[in-house]
Amino acid sequence: MPYVHDTLLRLQKSSPAQTEFYQAAEEVLDSIRPLLDKDKHYREQGIIERLVEPERQMMFRVVWHDDQGRVQVNKGYRVQFSSALGPYKGGLRFHHSVNAGIIKFLGFEQIFKNALTGLPIGGGKGGSDFNPKGRSDMEVMRFCQAFMTELHRHIGATIDVPAGDIGVGAREIGYMYGQYKRLTGSYEGVLTGKGLNWGGSLARKEATGYGAVYFAENMLQDRNDSLKNKTCLVSGAGNVAIYTIEKLYQLGALPVTCSDSQGTIYHEQGIDLGLLKELKEVRRSSLEAYLDTHPTAKYIPVSDYPTDGHAVWRFKAQAAFPSATQNELTLADAKVLLEQGVYCISEGANMPSTADAVDLFLEAGICYGPGKAANAGGVATSQLEMAQNASMTQWTFEEVDNRLKAIMNGIYQRSSDTAKEFNEPTNLVLGANIAGFRKVADAMIDQGLV
Ligand code: NAP
Repeated sequence: MPYVHDTLLRLQKSSPAQTEFYQAAEEVLDSIRPLLDKDKHYREQGIIERLVEPERQMMFRVVWHDDQGRVQVNKGYRVQFSSALGPYKGGLRFHHSVNAGIIKFLGFEQIFKNALTGLPIGGGKGGSDFNPKGRSDMEVMRFCQAFMTELHRHIGATIDVPAGDIGVGAREIGYMYGQYKRLTGSYEGVLTGKGLNWGGSLARKEATGYGAVYFAENMLQDRNDSLKNKTCLVSGAGNVAIYTIEKLYQLGALPVTCSDSQGTIYHEQGIDLGLLKELKEVRRSSLEAYLDTHPTAKYIPVSDYPTDGHAVWRFKAQAAFPSATQNELTLADAKVLLEQGVYCISEGANMPSTADAVDLFLEAGICYGPGKAANAGGVATSQLEMAQNASMTQWTFEEVDNRLKAIMNGIYQRSSDTAKEFNEPTNLVLGANIAGFRKVADAMIDQGLV
């Protein structure tokens, strides 16, 4: 379709060198072609040209002092993509790989993900190329304060509500919230993922991982199957991976892998969850230290990874949960996964599978839950945190978890029903993209040219 093709070409000219953003835009625009063919008014209203252009993007300098008193300079970003459905909502990522293209790909995905939840939230994303790893708590605090000193001008409880992402957990949210409060004098739900005794929601920490597992269970239930007794591969060792592993155990599955940026652990008896939490949430150390407690587990350092992919996907299993980062599952990995018996994939991370790997999963007709549907539990529970803040109440863990389960089921049903409507019943990429797009596009049309 020349319309989609021309929009993508224009994007490459107007936003040069943003590879991940083009990848995300192409995936969405390609899969909504059947809708654009059917309903011409989306084209007449210029919806896709408008959607690929953020409503607003901020880039700013962040200056702070390290522990040696040296001046450090980082780049900060906040991209406010779409407010058609509610205040901008999406995480902040602190990682050395962050650039404008990465933030735009994440913000773009967030629009459709948030729409799919059925909750009143728009799409945004932000972050910095600051790397908290190896920094002292005081350095992290000074950075977060400097970052918020600029960001606070652009956010607010009904304007834009950031959350965490890679490199931004409870510690960073705390420092940023403190600085926001100092600058504005306002105690409001301007960030989510807050501490439990100052406005946070129970089950927010667990929500993305739990949600990705609920999504997998929904896909399997539709085929009269379940996760019980399934061997599972999980990548990552951060927030999403840890709570994916926790929920897998609760549902009777056996997670046997996890990974970090240095290497992969394979533990045939099942990952030791208590140890994983201790290593990553308390000690913030490398996964290699897992071997000190479990010398029979296998550790594969990045230097020994296959040249065409990632060691974590090279083990026998039935289900896989990519939960680390974008493009961490290649076509070669996808081929091995299918050969080794994996028939259920639920993406905790954002865009973890390369485009050709996704094509292979779709051709194979396996249960494949794309990130924007499968990992939406995190942002959905962030919205539940906003609702609790606005009403000055706190719900129990069970109440939030039950709502999360219902929301994940709703996301699955919406994606699956839409896939069936377009005669591709197993294609949840198409289902999720069209369902999310239609909701945002219809709201944009109602609200006029803004
Ligand atoms: P996190 O707590 O910072 O953990 C990220 C994990 O991935 C860490 O184990 C990290 O290794 C590893 N990792 C990061 N970059 C990597 C790279 N380039 N290569 C290999 N490993 C890498 O972050 P998270 O919150 O779990 O987020 C993980 C993914 O889920 C991201 O794609 C994020 O966008 C997505 N997501 C998160 C949420 C949420 O609520 N947190 C919601 C939706 C989607 P090290 O331990 O060595 O750093």
